[in-house]
Amino acid sequence: MSTALGNHILVEFMNCDPHIMNDVSAIERDMVAAAQKAGATVINSTFHHFSPYGVSGVVVIQESHLAIHTWPEYGYAAVDLFTCGEMNAWISFDHLKECFGAKSYSALELKRGSVNLIQRNDFDITSMRQKAAEWKNPDFYTRNVWFTDKDEEQALSLRFTGDVLFDVQSPFQRVRILESYKYGKMLALDDMVMTTEKDEFHYHEMISHPALFSLPSAKNVLIIGGGDGGTAREVLRHKNIEHVTMVEIDGEVIEACKIHLPKIAAEFDNPKLTLLVDDGIEFLKNATPNSYDLIIVDGSDPVGPAEGLFSVEFYTNCYAALKNDGILVAQGESPKFNEKAFVELNQTLQTIFGLDKAPISLFFVPTYPTGMWSFQYGIKGDITINEVKNKNEIQEFVSKEGLRYYNEDIHANTFALPNFVKELVRKK
Ligand code: SAM
Repeated sequence: MSTALGNHILVEFMNCDPHIMNDVSAIERDMVAAAQKAGATVINSTFHHFSPYGVSGVVVIQESHLAIHTWPEYGYAAVDLFTCGEMNAWISFDHLKECFGAKSYSALELKRGSVNLIQRNDFDITSMRQKAAEWKNPDFYTRNVWFTDKDEEQALSLRFTGDVLFDVQSPFQRVRILESYKYGKMLALDDMVMTTEKDEFHYHEMISHPALFSLPSAKNVLIIGGGDGGTAREVLRHKNIEHVTMVEIDGEVIEACKIHLPKIAAEFDNPKLTLLVDDGIEFLKNATPNSYDLIIVDGSDPVGPAEGLFSVEFYTNCYAALKNDGILVAQGESPKFNEKAFVELNQTLQTIFGLDKAPISLFFVPTYPTGMWSFQYGIKGDITINEVKNKNEIQEFVSKEGLRYYNEDIHANTFALPNFVKELVRKK
C-alpha cells in the first residue's frame, strides 16, 4: 500500500543546449514522449514559446502532470515530474536528460499527500472512474502549442499544430515553417511571424498595387527582400512590367517557401524575374543611378540582416537608383509596434525625398502584433499616389486577378492617417 498519493521529482537540468531550451516544438515533443515512455496516458499538452526566448509547458497525464520552464540564456530547465500510481517517473527523467543534452543536473524526490496526514472522505468514486476511462485513448489528446511574437509590452500568439515543417539556422537567421490552426502554414524568421497562407494577401497586395497604379508606365522594378515571393507575384500581375530584380539575402527563405508556401512563391520561375541571393544594402550601393521605376523594400524587422534596411545611407542610395518619376515603398513597421523604427523611418524618408513626399499607408495584417501595419513611401518627381485616377482600370484588374484586399476605395483611403499618427511623424 503506497504511503503517499503522489510522487514528485523536482529536477534542475543545467548546461543544456540553449537552442533546444528555446525550441517549443522540440520540448513539447520530448515532454510528451517522456511521459509515454514511462507508460503514462497523455490527456493534453499546452506549451508556450516566449520571444525572445523561453518556453513554458505542461503535459497533463492520467497519472498527473509533467511541467517545464526553460531559461535558454542559462541553458537551464526547471522540470516537475508529478505522478501517482505505479508510474516510474525516473524513466521520463532519463529521457529528458538525454533530449536536452543536460551536462549536469540535480533531482529531488519527495512524496506528496502522505496518507498519514490526510483523511479520505466518502466521495462517490464510481461515476468518476467512468469519466476517466473515456481518456484511455492514447491517440486522442489535444495539443496546445503556441507561437508567440512579442516585445516587452505586447504579444501576438498563434496556436499551431506543434509540427515544424522546415527548420534551418541560416547564416542570417532561423528560418522555420510552422502550421497554425487559424492561418495555415506560416513563415517565421527567428521568432517573428513573416507571412501566413491565410492573410499574406493583405500585405502583398498593399505593398505593390497602390504604387503600380500610380505608375501606369512602370517597366523596371527592384524588390529588396521579399524572400517568400508574394511581392514578386503581385508585381508580375501587371503586364506593363518588363523586368523585376529581386535581391533576397537568405536562400533558405526562398527554399522554404518554394517547398511549403508554393502559392506565395508562385512566380520564382517567371522569365521577367531575376532572383539574386545577395545583400540588398550592398546591391543598392552599386546600383545604376536612375534605373528603377519602383523600388520595393520588403524587409523584415530592423534587427539582424535587416537593420541596415532602415538606414539613411540605404534610402539615399534608393533615391539615386530611382528614375526621376519613381516611387519607393518600404515595409514600415507599425505606429503601435516598433513605434520608434516607424517614426525614424518616416523622418529619414521626409529628409531624403521631401517633407510632403513621404506618405504612409496603413492597413491590417491580423498575424502581425497589433494587426495595424504600414508601408512608407518616398516619392521622387511629380507623382501623386493618394489620388485614384484610373478607377475603372483598377476595378477591372481587381476582378480579373481576383484580388481580396486591394481595390480603388482602399487605395483612396489607405493614406488617410489618424491624428495620433500625423502627430507621431510631424517633422520636429
Ligand atoms: N512581411 C515581412 C515583414 O513585414 O516583416 C517581410 C517578409 S520578407 C520574408 C523579409 C525578407 O527580407 C526576409 O526573407 C529576409 O531574409 C530579407 N532580408 C532581410 N535583410 C535583408 C537584406 N539586407 N538584403 C536582402 N534581403 C534581406
